Amino acid sequence: MSLVIDDVLIRLDPSGGSVPVVLDSPHSGTRYPAGFNFVCPLPLLRQAEDTHVDELFAAAPDYGATLICALFPRAFLDVNRASDDIDPEMLDGPWPGPLNPSEKSAMGMGLVRNLCRPGLPMYDGKLPVAEVVDRIERYWRPYHEQLAGCIDQLHGRFGMVWHINCHSMPSLTVGADDREGGADFVLGDRDGTTCDPGFTRFVADYLRALGYRVRINDPYKGVELVRRYSRPARGRHSLQLEIDRRLYMNEETLEKHSGFDRLRADLNRLVAAICDHAGAMVARRAAE
Ligand SMILES: [Zn+2]
Repeated sequence: MSLVIDDVLIRLDPSGGSVPVVLDSPHSGTRYPAGFNFVCPLPLLRQAEDTHVDELFAAAPDYGATLICALFPRAFLDVNRASDDIDPEMLDGPWPGPLNPSEKSAMGMGLVRNLCRPGLPMYDGKLPVAEVVDRIERYWRPYHEQLAGCIDQLHGRFGMVWHINCHSMPSLTVGADDREGGADFVLGDRDGTTCDPGFTRFVADYLRALGYRVRINDPYKGVELVRRYSRPARGRHSLQLEIDRRLYMNEETLEKHSGFDRLRADLNRLVAAICDHAGAMVARRAAE
């Protein structure tokens, strides 16, 4: 079973028996909607994408996990922000309700970006309020409804659930071989508040055993998607996973390179291990 909401998302359900694991890729969408009237150069705007992350995790349903991928680009609407994380200064009129612009909005990177990158505006004027309302209703709401629905359904059935929020990041590696400063993966659990710290350690240890350099909550702690649905004390665990883009693609052209297949194979091992971990935790709970 799978579900497609046109231009919004695709949900791939487990191909066999399911385990309480949900992966989501909110930033890998590349379908730029008609009427998305940005004025900055498209190649620069596309640097905001987590390009190919959906494909890196495409086999997750084979291991019993559910995978949800956004189809629209992050620069159009960022589902990893609260729906009221909007800078009122970028709107052409009053917003029909309260707003809560965060520091992300202050940097031009809220729910709807107003900067392509620092100093480079996205739009040549204010955005119509109706346009932003429409993006929330047509894109933000269905994405969150699907993700929350899957997490709730699995939690209801198994009593616990693990959510992996999948991203890629601009390389932190400086130079060709920066063994000290770089990181291949950054795990974010908002300083131990969005999942059992033992689960974060489990994922970090697994990746380190595969030879990767892993940092935790530095410099990325996770944002709205891991915050919103997690409640570790109730068995709801969310962990953000950031992958160094240089491991699998050219960061300028966004083309996959020869490292892609190796990384994908390692991520399949990781997903299999997470699904095994979830299955074992459910079995242990049932035996208690
Ligand atoms: Zn991302």
